[in-house]
Amino acid sequence: MYTLGIDIGSTSSKAVILLNGTTIINKALVTVGTGTSGPSQVLQQVFAGQEIQRSDIQKTVVTGYGRMALKEADKQISELSCHARGVHFLFPSAKTVIDIGGQDAKALKLDNRGMLMNFAMNDKCAAGTGRFLDVMARVLETKVDDMGKLSEQAETIATISSVCTVFAESEVISHLAKGTRTPDIIAGIHRSVAQRVGTLAFKLGIENDVVMTGGVAQNAGVVKALEETIKARINVSDYPQYTGAIGAAIYAFDEMEKETKKRC
Ligand code: ADP
Repeated sequence: MYTLGIDIGSTSSKAVILLNGTTIINKALVTVGTGTSGPSQVLQQVFAGQEIQRSDIQKTVVTGYGRMALKEADKQISELSCHARGVHFLFPSAKTVIDIGGQDAKALKLDNRGMLMNFAMNDKCAAGTGRFLDVMARVLETKVDDMGKLSEQAETIATISSVCTVFAESEVISHLAKGTRTPDIIAGIHRSVAQRVGTLAFKLGIENDVVMTGGVAQNAGVVKALEETIKARINVSDYPQYTGAIGAAIYAFDEMEKETKKRC
């Protein structure tokens, strides 16, 4: 039984095909999100070169910021629920989840069964989100994908004291003008993100195991800075950006099972 989970984020679109609610058959990601061609592109890509066709999919659930725009799905489910479900699938012992996406950051508290108990969210301000890192990467003439590696070469951590993205950008420019080394500036940027997002996690209380999801979890420098801030080890899966889509595909499988039981 094949199900499809789609996560339409603010900056990227993700899709996952799941077999029997347990096995990932294929996944695809397009780096544009809601309001763009991202959703239709990602749907094409996830089936490209696969034996499975769209008609083989028995249920589709869509999640993410842009979920209301995808009418083809059977159901829309909130990204908080889908993230919780995806994390529990990947790390059954997870109790605290920190998700940093393109335009928001959130902390989630899960119970033993992986059900969402509480959450704290920043979706009002770019500080502490992927957007903050994207802006800083541009100023530093580097790629956001390379920031984690570059931060490993830091000798000291440059101070970035402003929480506002615009003012923090000015601080980065003034560090560059003073000749501060790029890796040191990046380490300062990572610490700033970690402090901002750590506050969300502290609000809920940090309980092991801790898992980080979202595109920013691919930045080992942010993960390390967050570990130092919250004083806990953070687990990251091999595909943190797909967690919401995985959760959506599992919910789609649940829907299938419910319908099958009703028919019997
Ligand atoms: P959304 O679901 O809101 O669209 P994502 O969870 O896809 O967001 O995260 C997007 C963010 O992840 C980008 O803004 C970028 O900062 C960061 N990101 C994406 N790919 C990478 C990577 N390879 N390394 C580090 N950071 C990344």
